[in-house]
Amino acid sequence: MSATLEIKNLNVSIGDKQIIKDLNLTVPKGEVHAIMGPNGTGKSTLAKALAGHPDYQITSGDALMDGESLLDLEVDERSRAGLFLAFQYPMEIPGVSIANFIRAAKKARLPKGEDLNAPAFYKELYAMMDMLKIDRKFTARSINDGFSGGEKKRCEILQLAMLNPKYAILDETDSGLDIDALKVVSEGVNTLRGDHMGALIITHYQRLLDYIIPDAVHVMYDGRIVKSGDKDLALELEAKGYDWVKELASDAA
Ligand code: ADP
Ligand code: MG
Repeated sequence: MSATLEIKNLNVSIGDKQIIKDLNLTVPKGEVHAIMGPNGTGKSTLAKALAGHPDYQITSGDALMDGESLLDLEVDERSRAGLFLAFQYPMEIPGVSIANFIRAAKKARLPKGEDLNAPAFYKELYAMMDMLKIDRKFTARSINDGFSGGEKKRCEILQLAMLNPKYAILDETDSGLDIDALKVVSEGVNTLRGDHMGALIITHYQRLLDYIIPDAVHVMYDGRIVKSGDKDLALELEAKGYDWVKELASDAA
């Protein structure tokens, strides 16, 4: 069984509109790969399709996590199997506190009959909050309810840290972050990355990749990966802009 997130000839439609077109991508476990591309190219669609969002129909192809097809799994099963998606636009969940939400998610991952040790849970939660410079007052606040953009993103990384996934997909986690919050979030991801966790970092801008150095960079355009390279590709893209990508795409077609 190969320890990879492997996307094979994936086609995804929303309604009758095809968004993702025969996309291939492999992220070996423990590696951090970035996907960059212009707005509207299908980056979030890819992330949501992998997470199992019901509006995004996978019409053909497959996505395998450590050899197991995600397509056979329900949304919660994908999560429990070790896939984590941090949303571009995190949802507000009034009435559900951060602590209770994360606790419920962790409980759902335990073998039947086992219970979460509350003191150990809070010890871990507070340690992660300290790492991410999130005030402890936040534990009692409703998820994302009235949070600033930066607070929402840090809260997403807190969930990531606590759930300890095998593969994390971060969809434009950098958007809405000022430079200090960007550094905090990047430090968090850099602390978590390693043999246990690989990540797919989706970003429109190169800036985040100054702090989270990726093992590979993929350029997406019109539902396809049109070029892959090392971290320098992100700099090249920043310098040349996205018009260059359109030319690449027409060369590839
Ligand atoms: P990106 O994240 O690269 O900016 P998206 O995946 O959000 O791109 O969008 C890709 C295309 O899919 C766009 O044309 C967008 O309008 C369309 N799209 C995304 N989500 C929906 C949706 N829920 N309903 C209809 N069209 C959508
Ligand atoms: Mg997007």
